[in-house]
This record gives sequence, structure tokens and C-alpha cells, in this order.
Amino acid sequence: MTFFMETTDRLLVHGRTFEKILSEESIQTRVDLLGEQISARFADDNPLFMPVLNGAFIFAADLIRRFRGHCQTDFVRLSSYQGDQSGGQVRTVLGIDHDLRGRHLIVVEDIVDTGRTIAHFLETLRTQEPASISVAAFLRKPEAMIVPVPVDYLGFDIPNRFVVGYGLDFDGHGRNLPAVYGMVND
Ligand code: IMP
Repeated sequence: MTFFMETTDRLLVHGRTFEKILSEESIQTRVDLLGEQISARFADDNPLFMPVLNGAFIFAADLIRRFRGHCQTDFVRLSSYQGDQSGGQVRTVLGIDHDLRGRHLIVVEDIVDTGRTIAHFLETLRTQEPASISVAAFLRKPEAMIVPVPVDYLGFDIPNRFVVGYGLDFDGHGRNLPAVYGMVND
């Protein structure tokens, strides 16, 4: 069986066991606070939220609904492909519909793991001369970070283990879970 909920605290995906590490209540309480902080700073600035698909869709939906003020949203997708001459990875950004010059940008990420994805995206955004760039990340794995990334609005720091839930997936499974589950190394 590819996905099996054993209890509300344990589940199996592709034969791997996951245990709950963040409850729905603690997540919602934390997102309340982040929404308040972002509202206090940007309520009068018509910020442009930029959720990074796919993983950030749940966090972004909750966070943006807590924003008190006028705002706009551009969902972006960072697609990577092999194949430049050096054989390295090239990333392109899809989905930016607005002129970013002079705008206050709030990048919304599911998780900062090595930091590579978001660091590259921030570099691309800086060339567009926005008024400011802030990063809201639901999760961060400090032990996994290779490229240091400033996170202005952070949900939780977590240990360096694979997680699913609240938008994050394992082979497409688990995004709908309202809590977060960490893989058990056994
Ligand atoms: P980074 O470039 O290493 O920071 O990786 C960022 C992306 O990898 C995230 O936006 C996620 O989509 C994915 N990712 C990293 N860690 C996890 C995890 O534990 N579970 C699910 N996806 C993850």
C-alpha cells in the first residue's frame, strides 16, 4: 500500500514510517502570528506575494488570508533542467505576471533545505529592482543549509529529516495533511 494512516500520529508512505512532529494547532497559531507581523509591516504597501509552487500552496493560502490590507499574488514555478554547457543545473522562473520594479515582494516558500532554490530565485528578483524582498518560509532545516538564505518570517526550524504534510509531499503524497510528519529512520 502506498499510503496508509495508522493513527493520527503515524502514517506509512511507500513503506516508510512518518510520525507527527508539528500539530495542526501549533501550525495555525504560528501562521496567525506571521500574518500579524506581515500585516503590521506591509498593510499599506500593496505587497506582491510570490508563493513558490508546488509545496507552498497550503502555507500561502493560509498566510495570505491573514494579511490585512490590499495585496496581489503571483504564483511562481522554478523549473530546473540539466543541459547547459558546464553540465550544471539551470533554473528558470515561470509565472511572474507583474512589473516588479519598486514593489514590495514577499516570497513564500514551503521549506528552506539546502537554500539553493531560494537563493537562486532571490538573485533573479534582485535584478528587477523591487523596493524590498522578504522571505516567508514555513519550515527551515538549519543543519542542511549550504547556501545561507535570510528568512524574515519563519514558521519553524526542524531537524534534518524528510517531512510531509501542509503542502509538502513524498512522491505527490501527503500534501493535504493539516499537520507535519517526519520520516522515522528505521
Ligand atoms: P533546497 O533548494 O535544498 O532548499 O530545496 C527546496 C525544495 O526541496 C523545497 O521547496 C521542497 O520542495 C523540497 N524539499 C526539501 N526538503 C523537503 C522535505 O523534507 N520534504 C518535502 N520536500 C522537500
